[in-house]
Amino acid sequence: MAYSALSQVPVAVSINTDSFLPRSQFKGSNVFFIDKLRTSGLSLDFKIANARSKGRSVICMSVQQASKSKVAISPLSLEDAKEPPLHLYKNKEPYTGTIVSVERLVGPKAPGETCHIVIDHGGNVPYWEGQSYGIIPPGENPKKPGNPHNVRLYSIASTRYGDSFDGKTASLCVRRAVYYDPETGKEDPSKNGVCSNFLCDSKPGDKVQITGPSGKIMLLPEDNPNGTHIMIGTGTGIAPFRGYLRRMFMENVPTFKFGGLAWLFLGVANSDSLLYDDEFSKYLVDYPDNFRYDIALSREQKNRNGGKMYVQDKIEEYSDEIFKLLDDGAHIYFCGLKGMMPGIQDTLKRVAEKRGESWEEKLSQLKKNKQWHVEVY
Ligand code: FAD
Repeated sequence: MAYSALSQVPVAVSINTDSFLPRSQFKGSNVFFIDKLRTSGLSLDFKIANARSKGRSVICMSVQQASKSKVAISPLSLEDAKEPPLHLYKNKEPYTGTIVSVERLVGPKAPGETCHIVIDHGGNVPYWEGQSYGIIPPGENPKKPGNPHNVRLYSIASTRYGDSFDGKTASLCVRRAVYYDPETGKEDPSKNGVCSNFLCDSKPGDKVQITGPSGKIMLLPEDNPNGTHIMIGTGTGIAPFRGYLRRMFMENVPTFKFGGLAWLFLGVANSDSLLYDDEFSKYLVDYPDNFRYDIALSREQKNRNGGKMYVQDKIEEYSDEIFKLLDDGAHIYFCGLKGMMPGIQDTLKRVAEKRGESWEEKLSQLKKNKQWHVEVY
């Protein structure tokens, strides 16, 4: 593709990934933005080669926006429904979609592989941000010979308009499940995860069986466009939040002009494992008063006790602000592996006790007010 525009705009951003980038304030070494004009002429592609990308293959996630001007979306009728679409395609009669692209999201030093997978549903399996698709991998269920595999759920990582802004695709963020024999430490491909490997190995044009969409708990409440949304994700738990953030900051949605605060806490193993970091870094630059982004890199950073840095350590660091925001009605979301919740709950309980509050009471109030959203797997 011809690059018809190439500009480097130095923006000072801290390279210390464990440090929070304060709103409206960037310091440290430079980040270079490399913009290219898409040949379609409709929008600008955007790449950030920042300090975090150094030492790993540059991830060319297309962030189809080069300035604060937002991307036009269509069809606008996707805004009309009062209720989210649910279970349009069931396990017995799935929709056959087509793989558009499969892109490795992580660098060489990331433990494991995570892929961004775009699926063409032709506009036939509409969904809202925060919902999941079911995928039925091809082949026979070994536990039920003659029957298809069980469905696996995947959080959708795009907005309802998809990455091409036309309402015809959905994107998934899939981690390849690999089995290592505990005795030999060697990979045993016969026990690798069926669906995640099918998705990560698929090629453009391959067919994929889709069910759903499903899920209401992670829908983005849009009643207050100036509300606060605190998102806590580990690994592929970033998926629904990527969708929310694109809706808030990338797309020109006439019915949802976001002017509130979105605060993302992302926990991954190391800087090579960061997901969609270029998109999020761009929002920090363009919407410093509306977006905060904190990263916990468990294998690279230390918490204040000298242990590994997990998302709960970041939450603890900002606990006073977080509790105040929750008291003022903020929504808080958790997504990722089940194992993330006990550590987070312990931290929140400890913080509440330090503040002389009962965590049990606070939690039940948050649930009652529908401020508490959890999807872990
Ligand atoms: P499976 O084939 O189901 O195997 C499961 C695990 O067992 C694998 O780790 C496999 O290596 C291991 N295994 C297989 N055989 C053996 C054996 N004989 N002995 C021991 N172990 C064995 N995942 C994502 O990556 N991204 C998402 O956004 C996402 N969103 C989700 C949302 C929801 C609501 C839920 C419920 C789950 C979500 N998941 C997501 C998880 C996803 O649904 C799958 O569970 C995951 O991809 C593994 O499926 P698989 O078919 O690859 O593995």
